Amino acid sequence: MDMTGLSTAAYIAASALFIRSLGGLSSPVTARAGNTQGMVGMALAVCATALLLPPAALPILAGVVVVGLGIGAVLAQRVAMTSMPQLVAILHSFVGLAAALVGYASQLGGEHPTGAEGVVHCCALYAGVFIGAVTFTGSVVAWGKLEGKIRSKPLMLPGRHALNLFLVIAVVAMAVPYAMDPANGMVYLLVMTAIGGFLGWHMVMAIGGADMPVVVSMLNSYSGWAAAADGFLLQNDLLIVTGALVGSSGAILSYIMCKAMARSFWSVILGGFGADEGAAPAKAAVGGPVGEPIATDVDTLVKELAGASSVIIVPGYGMAVAQAQHPVCALTKNLRARGVEVRFAIHPVAGRLPGHMNVLLAEANLPYDLVLEMDEINDDFDETDVVLVIGANDIVNPGALDDPSSPIYGMPVLHAWEAKRVVVFKRGKGAGYAGVENPLFLHECTRMLYGDAKKSVDALLAGLESG
Ligand code: NDP
Repeated sequence: MDMTGLSTAAYIAASALFIRSLGGLSSPVTARAGNTQGMVGMALAVCATALLLPPAALPILAGVVVVGLGIGAVLAQRVAMTSMPQLVAILHSFVGLAAALVGYASQLGGEHPTGAEGVVHCCALYAGVFIGAVTFTGSVVAWGKLEGKIRSKPLMLPGRHALNLFLVIAVVAMAVPYAMDPANGMVYLLVMTAIGGFLGWHMVMAIGGADMPVVVSMLNSYSGWAAAADGFLLQNDLLIVTGALVGSSGAILSYIMCKAMARSFWSVILGGFGADEGAAPAKAAVGGPVGEPIATDVDTLVKELAGASSVIIVPGYGMAVAQAQHPVCALTKNLRARGVEVRFAIHPVAGRLPGHMNVLLAEANLPYDLVLEMDEINDDFDETDVVLVIGANDIVNPGALDDPSSPIYGMPVLHAWEAKRVVVFKRGKGAGYAGVENPLFLHECTRMLYGDAKKSVDALLAGLESG
């Protein structure tokens, strides 16, 4: 049987499934089917690759696939939804490391073609190792910051942009002697890898506060380009296609998130964005309200909700921590049955992962038409009776609009304070991810309902049901 023909056909089918999978992931309605198509595509890709291997290599492949599947299955079972971003970040680091190791394996294997093929081989090897090294260290730092092992405050080395530029120029300059004699170019490769590793570390260390979502999707994109470079190196068309899909979709997601966060795409690409040098430390808005937040209780809120005709719910990271999505959806059902208009306002960086809130609400079977993006609903807060801010903080911080000293200044936020009444569900005085004070809590229309979000929503629901 012609194994090459068979595996080429399987590669084409897998590529088509990956493209369909990405299409499916663009909407919550089709996301489940999209995931399934991606998994089938990947299984097909692994089988098709196995067809091309010499029989002696099959036991090794089977061994690593079984070990990988085992570790992946255990990790996926154990990981809490709130820890998904850390898992995604560390998985990106594996892709980066694998891409760099493939490059080294090829270098040590000693095959260095000549002519046009040699140029492609050299470029792919050098680029794959470089992007892989940047992705590896950058993703490890991103994991550390998301996990709380590395403080999220940006590291601001003096002249960091000039340093980055100098290092990138050095990497490009070293590519010339390497390409002229790749067989003896190990030293250039090692120095370039060290520089790449430093650049990845430095770039992500310089990212502060609320900008991490863009970094995670940028690293996703880098990992795709590193894999695509390895595809050229290994002359594997499927790896080129898959790497390009991951690289470009990650870049598009980064662009969309940059727009949502009002950040410049190019400053992200070049790295080292976030709070600028000289920015004052996080504190309350200059001239903003002062005093203590006013607490409320469940009975008062039950009365307010019973008399409301429109309610907007703003979910945030705390809803994910408390796993309050099911009672929140039951609350929505109860209010709608009373004739109250209930809608959800989703900020693009709510939670700790793009689409985090949409996933949780879909899991609790909330009808999709009640879930609106920030731009669709931001003008409606001033006509709303009650806004329930459930475990959200940074995404409803008015300091982002009027406090130039705030690290999140310039980030568009949900205008919750324009409503007649805002009730914030949180446990205590904990700050949001960006670590800044939130003047919303001191606003005259705001009341705080302290406690775990799930317990508070359960109590609220019980109050409404008994009333
Ligand atoms: P925040 O992190 O700003 O705020 C969450 C709030 O939830 C905290 O103030 C905390 O207060 C409260 N909370 C925590 N646990 C509970 C609980 N069990 N019950 C009730 N409240 C709880 O979340 P937002 O969603 O508002 O903003 C997301 C932030 O994360 C942004 O800064 C964003 O940039 C960043 N980020 C987003 C990513 C993404 O892709 N979406 C990725 C990485 C970072 P308290 O401790 O007092 O309860």
